[in-house]
Amino acid sequence: MVMMKEKRENMERKKLLIHICCAPCLIAPLQHLQQEDEFDIRGLWFNPNIHPYQENQKRLHTLQEYASDVDLNLIIKDEYDLQGFLRQVAFREGDRCRICYHMRLNYAAIIAAKGGFDYYTTTLLYSKFQKHDLIKEIGEACGKEHGVKFLYRDFRNYWKEGIELSKNIEMYRQQYCGCIYSEKDRYMATPKRGEDENR
Ligand code: SF4
Repeated sequence: MVMMKEKRENMERKKLLIHICCAPCLIAPLQHLQQEDEFDIRGLWFNPNIHPYQENQKRLHTLQEYASDVDLNLIIKDEYDLQGFLRQVAFREGDRCRICYHMRLNYAAIIAAKGGFDYYTTTLLYSKFQKHDLIKEIGEACGKEHGVKFLYRDFRNYWKEGIELSKNIEMYRQQYCGCIYSEKDRYMATPKRGEDENR
């Protein structure tokens, strides 16, 4: 055991940039990555898909508070390009998650490559509600394009654990994914047949 510890201390940890979609999705993946003891981890906030503005800022401030509690350094790109996001998905709303993942992971890969990180990954891989395989595919493609490895982990295995941890510390937990379309899906009752579906 002592030899293993000495070996680890002598080894240089790999630099890992983790793109963070929100604080509740960070807790369990971060704890498990820290337990692996292989990485020097830094967080990245870049989520211009989260609407409206007050919700965007609430999620950012929740993350900042948590990151400060667990000593995680953050790179913050506090951008709220509502128009840019809507223009990208207009008339392609059905494929909006692909566009949204690409926008965020492409930026994360660029920052990771510029910052000399060995790997990058994302907390999007934690959610059971996201298109997991698509995130993996886009993460790997963006990594390849910008010359940084995408660290794939199935963080969904820690789903329950992460929820409990966030509840225990009374962390703000949002009720919808992020964009205004997802807000509508979450809160608006499905119209009955014959009702105006574009209300
Ligand atoms: S539902 Fe979520 S992942 Fe999909 S476009 Fe909206 S914010 Fe992005």
